[in-house]
Amino acid sequence: MKPKKYVTFSKNVFIPVTNVCRNACAYCGFRARSRSMKDAYLISVERFLALIKRARGSATEALFTAGEKPELANPHFRDWLRSNTGCSSLVEYTKELCKLAIEHGLLPHCNLGIMSSEELLELRAVNASMGLMLETTAEVEAHKNSPGKVPEVRLEMIARAGELKIPFTTGLLIGIGEKPEDRIRALEALKSLYDEYRHIQEVIIQPFVPKPYTPMWNVRPPGLDVLKEVVRAARAILPAEVAIQVPPNLTSPRELIELGASDLGGISEHTIDYINPESSWPCEAELREAIAPFVLRERLPIYPAFIKRGWYSKEISHLIARYADEEGLRRR
Ligand code: SF4
Repeated sequence: MKPKKYVTFSKNVFIPVTNVCRNACAYCGFRARSRSMKDAYLISVERFLALIKRARGSATEALFTAGEKPELANPHFRDWLRSNTGCSSLVEYTKELCKLAIEHGLLPHCNLGIMSSEELLELRAVNASMGLMLETTAEVEAHKNSPGKVPEVRLEMIARAGELKIPFTTGLLIGIGEKPEDRIRALEALKSLYDEYRHIQEVIIQPFVPKPYTPMWNVRPPGLDVLKEVVRAARAILPAEVAIQVPPNLTSPRELIELGASDLGGISEHTIDYINPESSWPCEAELREAIAPFVLRERLPIYPAFIKRGWYSKEISHLIARYADEEGLRRR
């Protein structure tokens, strides 16, 4: 397989908005476990501003992640949110943070789990792209307590994002109980969605990493051979316009690039990976060295093809003009 011209990555600042989540995935080390909210977390505006000010001038992306539908997870969440922020929903609060991120020169990318069309529409104008991992189309034991992980529910939300022309990031989580044929089915489902809406900019092939104090703490993570097989299949199934992303803090990317991966996702110089806090990100110089002779280029959270198509709002157009060069990658 002929490698793509560049291997891309983006520089982000990682914002965990809240860890309260209605789901209980068996591998998750991120979500708050207590019903009493004693281990619940909600980022304050002050903390958020401190994080983004540190990243100003280097990062272009503000990556917002949160537990899914926290209002349904805990009856106290809405009052807690209102008394701390004046907002009545996670989407409303995150939208305010997105606006602040834009004021500080960052392009938001939100991944808040399952959202309705109205919620997606509310966030669309203040996001350069949005995301939702499909993870798998199989019904796996790891998701038995996670209503938001029902495959049809996730596929429907990715389709909704397509109807709204939102540049979209999705992906597979490998090693959570799915079989090799399930991975093929998931990739084929993503291909169908792309064929219909043309909105998927990248598909992440992400290995499961066991976390302490979770039901799957002693399950073996997938080896590089498994990831190679999935990347090979992904490149064969997905159209060339859809990039295949492999996270460089969770795997060694060089061999996966040879098989068709062409993106390394977001790395942060200022924040940890809150979902995989044990796995630190390599710095840009380490990435360059790890993938040589492939050439590394920085991109924005919206891919060049979507900049060219004009799939972004007037609220962020000044930032795209500031950061993108004539190829749609980050101006050097
Ligand atoms: S949806 Fe995400 S945050 Fe919620 S339990 Fe599952 S992995 Fe954790």
